[in-house]
Amino acid sequence: MNQFSYYRASTVKAAIDAASRSGNTRFIAGGTNLLDLMKSGVLTAETLVDINKLPLREIRQEQNRLHIGALVLNSSLAEDDIVKKQYPLLSEALLAGASPQLRNMATVGGNLLQRTRCTYFYDTTMPCNKRTPGSGCGAMDGINRMHAIFGVSDQCIAVHPSDMCVALAALDANILVAGPKGQRTIAMKDFHRLPGNTPQLDNTLGKTELITAVEIPAANFTNWHYLKVRDRASYAFALVSVAVALQVENNRIKDARIALGGVASKPWRLLQTEQLLKGQTPTADNFRKAAEKSIEGAVTRTYNAFKPAMVVNSIQTALLKSVAI
Ligand SMILES: Cc1cc2nc3c(=O)[nH]c(=O)nc-3n(C[C@H](O)[C@H](O)[C@H](O)COP(=O)(O)OP(=O)(O)OC[C@H]3O[C@@H](n4cnc5c(N)ncnc54)[C@H](O)[C@@H]3O)c2cc1C
Repeated sequence: MNQFSYYRASTVKAAIDAASRSGNTRFIAGGTNLLDLMKSGVLTAETLVDINKLPLREIRQEQNRLHIGALVLNSSLAEDDIVKKQYPLLSEALLAGASPQLRNMATVGGNLLQRTRCTYFYDTTMPCNKRTPGSGCGAMDGINRMHAIFGVSDQCIAVHPSDMCVALAALDANILVAGPKGQRTIAMKDFHRLPGNTPQLDNTLGKTELITAVEIPAANFTNWHYLKVRDRASYAFALVSVAVALQVENNRIKDARIALGGVASKPWRLLQTEQLLKGQTPTADNFRKAAEKSIEGAVTRTYNAFKPAMVVNSIQTALLKSVAI
């Protein structure tokens, strides 16, 4: 058994100071991912800093943006009146994730930082460059059905498993962070990392930095849909997911955002596909043509070769559902 000390912080500063004191400190929020990882020996901690008492549970509308505290529960966020009315894409994505019990524990900050569900990462008897840099990758020539097809490296093909993050990527969210050097904001697109030669690093957050909030800029989208394709109808991670937000005026697409889940180590924004859609009429044909562009550069392995076709079909379906054709 690995012993660790436990400290309950009551201010953001106290949490950051506690994290800075020891080399192997981890913040704990809902614990739904961290405790599993510690129990299975994937992660260790000298100190757990419990952040649940911090005043980071507020959802408030500010001028031109929605502010969401890092400790807001996934369930509270999904059911929030402002979110349901103005950002239904986010609500749909959250409700597609996990189970009601888990969503009642899981926090926004924890969801952003949840680790991959790659089985080789969880199995400590197998090589995994993300868990133990330099040990190899069991997934590369193993059972890689759930794995990435975009942004992969020869070190790692794990995917980021979050649903919420896919919607946040489409909504151009910002992550507010506090650390020993003060506060900073990280754009969602820069938050999660591609594996490259450092697959052990999932994101650009510093080791002692704390996520304090997520902010979503106001937008004028008229149509939304979150589609999650998975092995079971609920309580399963995505094979492919698609977050779509459109602004349609006079039967023309004025603005489009599309992000994919289940295909990369970060939510995968499709900027080129978005450009192709702008100015088009929202028809099945136009959606198909744009969707077909989205798989350029995909790299498949033995068991995930079905994913590019699934991506195209999923994007077209999500777009059609968003305009209810
Ligand atoms: C069986 C099961 C099924 C699931 N299915 C899905 C699914 O379909 N879709 C989906 O999206 N998710 C799914 N999840 C994942 C779930 O959403 C995450 O476990 C949850 O969001 C993590 O939040 P938490 O608050 O419990 O994080 P914790 O477990 O407390 O923490 C996770 C990580 O975040 C760090 N952390 C937490 N808060 C902060 C902060 N504010 N600042 C800095 N670091 C922080 C911790 O140190 C830790 O490293 C599933 C989980 C389980 C167990």
